[in-house]
Amino acid sequence: MPPPFPTSLCHRCVNLRLVESKTSIFLMCRDPAIPKYVPQPVRACVRFAPYA
Ligand code: SF4
Repeated sequence: MPPPFPTSLCHRCVNLRLVESKTSIFLMCRDPAIPKYVPQPVRACVRFAPYA
């Protein structure tokens, strides 16, 4: 099952964690300054941290 919201900025961010259940995959943010589950797709984020 491919991760949802492929256009989300989160997919390019080190803070993203993919959380899988039996039926879905959720995008979870590990940055403590951001709610764990933000509305998707994220287009802009002040805490965005791209991979090097
Ligand atoms: S910091 Fe922003 S861009 Fe990065 S995973 Fe969290 S919500 Fe997405």
